[in-house]
Amino acid sequence: MSVSVIIIMGAKGRMGSMIYGLAKDNPDFSVAALVERADLVPGLQNMGVKVAADLDAILPVPGAVVIDFTSPEVSMNSVRTALKHKAGAVIGTTGLSKDQVAELHEAAKTIPLLWAPNMSVGVNVLLKILPELVRLLGPAYDMEMVEIHHNKKKDAPSGTALKLAQCLAEARGWDYDDVKKHCRDGIIGPRPKDELGVQTLRGGDVVGDHTVYFLGPGERIEITHRAHSRETFAQGALRAAKWLSGQKAGRLYGMADVLL
Ligand code: NAD
Repeated sequence: MSVSVIIIMGAKGRMGSMIYGLAKDNPDFSVAALVERADLVPGLQNMGVKVAADLDAILPVPGAVVIDFTSPEVSMNSVRTALKHKAGAVIGTTGLSKDQVAELHEAAKTIPLLWAPNMSVGVNVLLKILPELVRLLGPAYDMEMVEIHHNKKKDAPSGTALKLAQCLAEARGWDYDDVKKHCRDGIIGPRPKDELGVQTLRGGDVVGDHTVYFLGPGERIEITHRAHSRETFAQGALRAAKWLSGQKAGRLYGMADVLL
């Protein structure tokens, strides 16, 4: 099997360090460089890997795929730099605006590009089966979600929760923006039928829990995904990078293209 060359953005971060830890001992991968904020670069030196504060100083590297789990602004800069050098990129960052997602779609016409708010097998299988549940249960069942994450998480609701909620809404023929309810407070009155609530809890070191509720007459179904470790996302990112290195540009890829 050919070796996949990767460049890891945000290498000191929770996800970046996990991805590097898995890739460095895996003969299927060669880490060409680690990129971090300038003030954190000294902490990455003497590891036997090229380190930089700027992706533009590293690229081009023949055949390399950039893996980026950082922040929306940093990830968008990585995509622009990857575009400049015609490199592929796997983006795991969440909290992107609609305009930023539109820019990803545009960039994907020129470079192999994959963006997924959740790289675990379990969540992507869930995304596959939820529309069938929505169809079988029918409109009598109200749909709600709760997500829990650690107390350092910046965006809410999580990118995974939004992806799951969009999947539920689409299966019911709704535009998620028309039905979303991210907060309830005060005298809210009866729940409208065309509503989809996503509530956020934050605390401790929770890696990521998502529960989808189907609340019907006399019964309910709860489907919960719990990530026990970031390793599931990091393995997904490496799998995505390996897959992407054999792909051409054309459209924005997601984890369903890699896993299912
Ligand atoms: P984190 O804050 O621990 O890591 C981000 C890293 O990016 C930090 O080390 C930071 O210093 C670095 N960084 C900041 N500016 C930079 C720059 N200019 N150049 C290079 N590096 C820079 O965050 P995290 O918990 O690792 O999460 C990162 C993102 O990934 C978040 O959006 C999170 O929601 C998302 N995430 C996605 C998945 C998935 O499966 N897709 C899983 C977990 C987290």
